[in-house]
Amino acid sequence: MSTDVIVKLKEMAADPGRVWIRGGARYADLLAETGRLANTLVALGLVRGDRLLLEVEKTEAVLSIYLACLRTGVVFLPVNPGYTAAETEHFLTDAEPARVVADRPVAGARVVTLAELMAQAAGAAADFADPAHGPDDLAAILYTSGTTGRSKGVMLSRENLASNAEALVGLWQFTEADVLLHALPVFHTHGLFVATNCALYSGASLIFQAGFAPDAVLAALPEATVMMGVPTFYSRLLADPRLTRDRCRGMRLFISGSAPLSPATHAEWQERTGHAILERYGMTETNMITSNPYEGARRAGTVGMPLPGVEVRVTGPDGAPVAQGEAGSIEVRGPNVFHGYWRLPEKTAEEFRDGWFVTGDLGAFDSQGYLSILGRAKDLVISGGLNVYPAEVEAALDDLPGVAGSAVIGVPHPDFGEAVVACVIPAKGAVVEEAVLRGALRDRLAAFKIPKRVLVMAEFPRNAMGKVQKAELRKQNARLFVEG
Ligand code: AMP
Repeated sequence: MSTDVIVKLKEMAADPGRVWIRGGARYADLLAETGRLANTLVALGLVRGDRLLLEVEKTEAVLSIYLACLRTGVVFLPVNPGYTAAETEHFLTDAEPARVVADRPVAGARVVTLAELMAQAAGAAADFADPAHGPDDLAAILYTSGTTGRSKGVMLSRENLASNAEALVGLWQFTEADVLLHALPVFHTHGLFVATNCALYSGASLIFQAGFAPDAVLAALPEATVMMGVPTFYSRLLADPRLTRDRCRGMRLFISGSAPLSPATHAEWQERTGHAILERYGMTETNMITSNPYEGARRAGTVGMPLPGVEVRVTGPDGAPVAQGEAGSIEVRGPNVFHGYWRLPEKTAEEFRDGWFVTGDLGAFDSQGYLSILGRAKDLVISGGLNVYPAEVEAALDDLPGVAGSAVIGVPHPDFGEAVVACVIPAKGAVVEEAVLRGALRDRLAAFKIPKRVLVMAEFPRNAMGKVQKAELRKQNARLFVEG
């Protein structure tokens, strides 16, 4: 069993000098603040198992509230403050939160503003008598980004969070000397659990930024030792000439995840900064699953090996594991895997097979045990009866001169069922032509994988984590091969 998050927080707070936020709170201050907030939550009438929904902008207070929830047993439920009232409505009816922390009125909810909550906490006692908690107790619910269908509430236990934090701290060699540059949102697993808990479990400090702004990140880099980002952080920083080797001199590790990092970006980053970005793979339901090694080759285009304690297998359509090297469905088992979707027992049962969680991602292990992600199963293109893995075509496209990024989708086609279609963003100042790109792919890919059309566009539809919304691209191009 792993050490609980709150036990760890208390351990870290025992050193009065240990800094939590650079230029701000120490761990001892954090512990006191979580005590005041825990007393406040209790005073508001919240009890173990109640949901506290947060829909606020990123501030340090969100992390304190997360930890206060863990102290009381109240379930932490943060959502993207960018959601519309109609989207929030779904979370309210589905999760039935006892309270909502928001800076705008929310119809049908008992709302407290963040300022009110913090003001009330300021007057509360810092000492809080923590009740006993079990490893399987519900810690948080995070809603999936819901690119198709309704967004589902992912139930995460204390042990899910603790086991993953311990695995990552060891693997990525976090210590109290680390300074983590935190520019990710805190309503998503990456910025909330991966980043925050890695700091908390090692006693590291955070440089806490309100969001990703290249100016602020570049200014902070010389003070930091580790950064976690989504691929768009890296491509946007590369577009800025102020990103130099010298600016990264104090850094020991750049980590990327939540979406595929293109091998071209990996190579360019290494050339410019001297650092090989470490790519890892995870999802809301499972926390982190695999990681490239800290020591040893970090291989672009792969997400590395299973974390300690986590099992990963790749299976075929019959559910049996495929031979090494072959593509199939990625399944995961371990203390990192969630306890089910909130109030959706049937949906939960559908996504587990013999105790393994079916991720919905396709992938393959290579001979050295590195996993490659080949795309979401629902994004697989079946053209003329043949499987085309979008990631393979995207990698080939991204390698071509003038291509800054690509997204490959399947579009209904009268002859082939689905046709492979590539959407491409040209590099700054480059002019790319459909015929030239298709021609260049002929040397690299079998004919059935070559996109029937290459559509050049300025940007892709993306979600808050920078993930390309392929469902939206498919919708926009649904009639590409249909007459009339
Ligand atoms: P989320 O639950 O929002 O974190 O999304 C999880 C999904 O993001 C996974 O199921 C993958 O499809 C994708 N993902 C996360 N990390 C990576 C990665 N390193 N490479 C490719 N896809 C990734």
